[in-house]
Amino acid sequence: MGNEKNSAIFPTYARYPFTMVKGEGSRLWDDTGKEYLDFVSGIAVTSLGHAPQVVKEKLVQQLDQLWHTSNLFHIPNQETLAQLLTQNSVADAVFFCNSGAEANEAAIKIARRYHQKVLGEKRYEIITFQQSFHGRTLATLTATGQDKVKEGFLPLPEGFVHAPYNDVAALEGYITDKTCAIMLELVIAEGGVVPATPEFVQEVARLCKAHKLLLIVDEIQTGLGRTGKLFAYEHYGIEPDIFTLAKALGSGFPIGAMLGKAKLIEAFTAGSHGSTFGGTPIATAAAIATVETILAQKLPARVAELGAYAMDKLSKGLQGNPLVKEVRGKGLLIGIECTQPVADLIAEIHNKGLLVLTAGPNVIRLLPNFLITQEDLDSGIELLCSIIATHSAAVVNG
Ligand SMILES: *Cc1c(COP(=O)(O)O)cnc(C)c1O
Repeated sequence: MGNEKNSAIFPTYARYPFTMVKGEGSRLWDDTGKEYLDFVSGIAVTSLGHAPQVVKEKLVQQLDQLWHTSNLFHIPNQETLAQLLTQNSVADAVFFCNSGAEANEAAIKIARRYHQKVLGEKRYEIITFQQSFHGRTLATLTATGQDKVKEGFLPLPEGFVHAPYNDVAALEGYITDKTCAIMLELVIAEGGVVPATPEFVQEVARLCKAHKLLLIVDEIQTGLGRTGKLFAYEHYGIEPDIFTLAKALGSGFPIGAMLGKAKLIEAFTAGSHGSTFGGTPIATAAAIATVETILAQKLPARVAELGAYAMDKLSKGLQGNPLVKEVRGKGLLIGIECTQPVADLIAEIHNKGLLVLTAGPNVIRLLPNFLITQEDLDSGIELLCSIIATHSAAVVNG
């Protein structure tokens, strides 16, 4: 276990008191040898489980050949990955970077530049939503609809306004002659696991069309199968102009991507944006193997099936529990909203060998990997339900 007092790392994380040393499939082991069933997946990153063989093989092959050249040279793996992503989505072009925040940063930049350089309009404002999470860079924390990530970082960049999520009536009132885009998560993830209603998403799409705004979907947590479709926008029958990916894309190897429609290509001319590490041969090798596996094994369909099953089993198992307000989510992005803060409960769950995480103070978030066995999913849910039952009995009885 790490000794926090002697740590030379900035204490930006409230870490759980475990040190993981090995991972395989749905399991992690800590430095005392204790085994855990993992419903966190590195926050929706290790979606093929820990250390998947197909990704490892592709990585090792690439490590033997070439690590890095910079984007001053052509990188065939980038072309392959971009083809895979565009052939299976509504996008026509991809910009590669290293993280989710950078992908959203690229989305914000291309939205402004498209309006200013291609359309010749002085529009720059982006409407985002309360409770959303879009990253930790100055622009993306400003886009984020939560005050806690902004404290002490003033002044913030201009050009972001936050509308209430799932509020059909309010949205149009936020559009001004400066608005260039609307940016949203289709399931608010970090902010509480809140799926968008179909009516709300239809209104977002309608307003984007009517006011010539770009529709940006942050698929960093929802993308690549997590919600039971390859991309969450498929649930709603909409076509975003821009969407962003990161978390699951490299199975744990850092990589992000901003994807856009053909009309945006002329907004990102040579020299307008860039990244030293964006889309290295190694990062793109990991991502190719990951995306190929998700497609070849039809994992979004498996996630849809397992997710519906899990949500039903949780709802039944937690029915009538006074501590539980609601079970909700999409696919294997599941939230259990409680009537009070869940920190103590989470510690108890971890101690019993099941890893889960929060989404705001009152919500337990579950993110099992896409290849989890039915047996592991069942045993995790059963353990979770029994711990919550015991915990709520203890709370109710004082
Ligand atoms: C995690 C996340 C981000 C930020 O990604 P980083 O890789 O941590 O920069 C942005 N948006 C959403 C929806 C996320 O879940």
